[in-house]
Amino acid sequence: MVPTFKEIEAWIADIPDPEIPVITIKDLGILRGVDYANGNYQITITPTYTACPAMKLIEDQIMENLSAKGIGNVKVNLTYTPAWTTDWISEDAREKLRKYGIAPPQHSSCIKTMGGRMPDPHCPRCNAANTSLISRFGSTACKAFYQCNNCKETFEQFKCH
Ligand SMILES: [Zn+2]
Repeated sequence: MVPTFKEIEAWIADIPDPEIPVITIKDLGILRGVDYANGNYQITITPTYTACPAMKLIEDQIMENLSAKGIGNVKVNLTYTPAWTTDWISEDAREKLRKYGIAPPQHSSCIKTMGGRMPDPHCPRCNAANTSLISRFGSTACKAFYQCNNCKETFEQFKCH
């Protein structure tokens, strides 16, 4: 039985982001496609942040998931065009981030309306807009660290990109 592209996609779609395990590579929008060429299944991924070391872990996990299904001829291709932006993160995933205590990134259109200035994220706990930036870098370079001025909760924000 030759698996369909849809099946292949389903077997790898739930791979969690190594840095934020509540969201998957499908949620992030980085799983771009499955194809077959030159005797290999070609999986196309667009990396989130170019320097993110998580990409290698994701690639290994794809190989592992497919090898568990008896598929060994797999090639993971990285594509940088069009460049990934946080706008590709699904609405479901934004909700998952909030529940996990991470403020989701703003949409880039929202930043354009603010004249290029990044609006402060809402608190994922009480939804107050009154939050202060503590540090541009949280536990990883992809996140910033904030405190809510309302409930005093400290939280991370997945930076807009
Ligand atoms: Zn709050």
